[in-house]
Amino acid sequence: MKLNSKPTRRSFVSALAALGAAILSPRKLFAAASRGPARPADAKLSGFGASGNVYEELGLTTVINGQGTMTVLGGSLMRPEVEAAMALASQHFCSIPELEVAAGKRIAEMLKLPPGYTGLVTSGAAAAMQSGLAGILTGDNEQFIQQLPDLTGMKSEVIIQKSHRNGFDHQLRSTGVKLIEIETVADLRRAVNPKTAMMHFSNFANAAGQIKVDEWLKLSKECKIPCFNDAAADTPPVSHLWDYANMGYDLIAFSGGKAIRGPQCAGLLIGRKDLAAYALLNNSPHEDTLGRSQKVGKEEIIGMIKALESYLKEDHDALTKEWWRRLDSISAEMSRAPGVSTSFSVPDVANHVPHLEIHWDPRHISLEPREAAHQLRAGKPSIVLASNESGLIMNSFMLQPGEEKVIAERLVQLFRAHSA
Ligand SMILES: *Cc1c(COP(=O)(O)O)cnc(C)c1O
Repeated sequence: MKLNSKPTRRSFVSALAALGAAILSPRKLFAAASRGPARPADAKLSGFGASGNVYEELGLTTVINGQGTMTVLGGSLMRPEVEAAMALASQHFCSIPELEVAAGKRIAEMLKLPPGYTGLVTSGAAAAMQSGLAGILTGDNEQFIQQLPDLTGMKSEVIIQKSHRNGFDHQLRSTGVKLIEIETVADLRRAVNPKTAMMHFSNFANAAGQIKVDEWLKLSKECKIPCFNDAAADTPPVSHLWDYANMGYDLIAFSGGKAIRGPQCAGLLIGRKDLAAYALLNNSPHEDTLGRSQKVGKEEIIGMIKALESYLKEDHDALTKEWWRRLDSISAEMSRAPGVSTSFSVPDVANHVPHLEIHWDPRHISLEPREAAHQLRAGKPSIVLASNESGLIMNSFMLQPGEEKVIAERLVQLFRAHSA
């Protein structure tokens, strides 16, 4: 089994400790599990950071993350080698626009992108959306770049399916465009006009919309309008990093700080070289641009390359097996709580990783799912799982070694405490 980082004696010991502690108190269990694998950044600090947990020093509670790559929880945990590459990046000065172009070239080679495509490291997928669209609107016209979000002289509409509107509308609207909502192909054809700048697709909403990812592309080619795919959280599978470029999407956005485990404040805009260049012109470090507030540092650019290299080399099958093993072990423990049952699922897109659903018979256990999630969050250790009307839902890809045992133990305790 190949884990994310090289197993070290310390992580082995802490995994063993977690194993042995299964019958101990949750507090001790947490202490064992929260140490996690050794990292280069475990450098001894004096003053702030001396305890090894900078968050606790600030009075925060760190959580066991059974919900996945949520930006609000900090996304993912960066790979140790990414930290090391970022530390190297911080040792020298260089031209950021030149670095961006060189990084894009390296990324295109690593991902074997089709001819004419490159990558641009942004401060996140949301920034990739805003600067990608800004570039489509302005091209390399300096006056237009300065003028945004005043669209005088530019196109001004973006077409989007109603079911694809989500929390990231703002990154499109910030350029000044109006979102034109459609539902059917006929709506789309009616909506297209000389003001149409782009057709936007939210990859995770593929099933929800009437027009699917391949047809959206086909229609955009037919209408000669650039099309964008927001695939921020849509790795795994790793192939998505090149699939949509190979299909012909003009621009695609990914988060660097989700499953790729790159810098939290990094993202990738993959796309046509001309459009990527225009996006960069609308982005930091260029001043008096819309994207100047989305600064991406030399450390993030370098870290993103390293993260992609590691992500590509990873044994994805072994990783998936490990994610299943963790959920299986939690599911097995649930038999110790009468009235509790479990089921498994894997979403088609976005967080395409194994999920465990935990249900219980309200005649045996009187506890609302939301209240269960709340109690897990408020407990010690603090555990974050999602809930819906029928129970709790979790995934295991952001868990640290041994945390699955802590979760199982805590769930059994919780259900026993509320059993009739
Ligand atoms: C996370 C996410 C984003 C934003 O990504 P950042 O890298 O945090 O900027 C955009 N769209 C979708 C669908 C996402 O899941």
